[in-house]
Amino acid sequence: MLNKTVMRDKIVAGNWKMNKNLEEALQLVKELEGLGYDSAVKMIVIPPFPFINAIVNHSKILVGAQNCAAQESGAYTGEVSATMLKSVGAQYVVVGHSERRSYFNEKNKDLSAKVNQCLTNNLTPIYCCGELLTERENNNHFEIVKSQISEGLFHLSEEQILETVIAYEPVWAIGTGVTASPEQAQEIHAFIRGLITEKYSPQVANSISILYGGSCNPKNAKELFALPDVDGGLIGGASLKAEDFIAISNSF
Ligand code: PEP
Repeated sequence: MLNKTVMRDKIVAGNWKMNKNLEEALQLVKELEGLGYDSAVKMIVIPPFPFINAIVNHSKILVGAQNCAAQESGAYTGEVSATMLKSVGAQYVVVGHSERRSYFNEKNKDLSAKVNQCLTNNLTPIYCCGELLTERENNNHFEIVKSQISEGLFHLSEEQILETVIAYEPVWAIGTGVTASPEQAQEIHAFIRGLITEKYSPQVANSISILYGGSCNPKNAKELFALPDVDGGLIGGASLKAEDFIAISNSF
């Protein structure tokens, strides 16, 4: 196996969801910078849209967005385009978070268009996949994740897919306090890497960071990040507290 620390970016991305006001958002990044973090880890904060530009201007931390439009521009009231996100300093975009899939009915086909918008605008999509509890209980999780990955990403060229990050987030672990076991996480991360190997090549598969998400916290991060196919985490609740997020980013 290729050495993951040499081949792939280590990433910790904090999805703030719909939390905080501007003052609180700036306070949190100030605290993160005050505590300091390992420069070998790509630490990304993913605030709500209105705070992106202020955070970019107030800190050196990498900033992402939680979503973008599938369209380039035009009469789509309420939407925010990838071009706009790029213009305010975002570098990453979460695409296909399970909350977008379930509450906003986003389908793999819509998500592939969002991935395209990101790449056209030199933004790195963090493409999310993961099964529901019932899907895991019925042993369908491999099929579900396979269709999410292939329908959302496998239209990309080799060059393009190398510009993406994947996040595996079992829906039953998001915000529940239940984490995938190290065996469950490794098994499906290796499965995802295998899909990329089959479609592209082992070299491509070994270059793409695959993050784990779902109740990751300072207590369990070390064990998860040590797994051969886990390259970091997409963090929800624990990213809202500076000490916890920094502790997670120091867990490699
Ligand atoms: C998430 O929403 O992407 C997430 C992983 O949330 P939490 O860490 O709170 O489970």
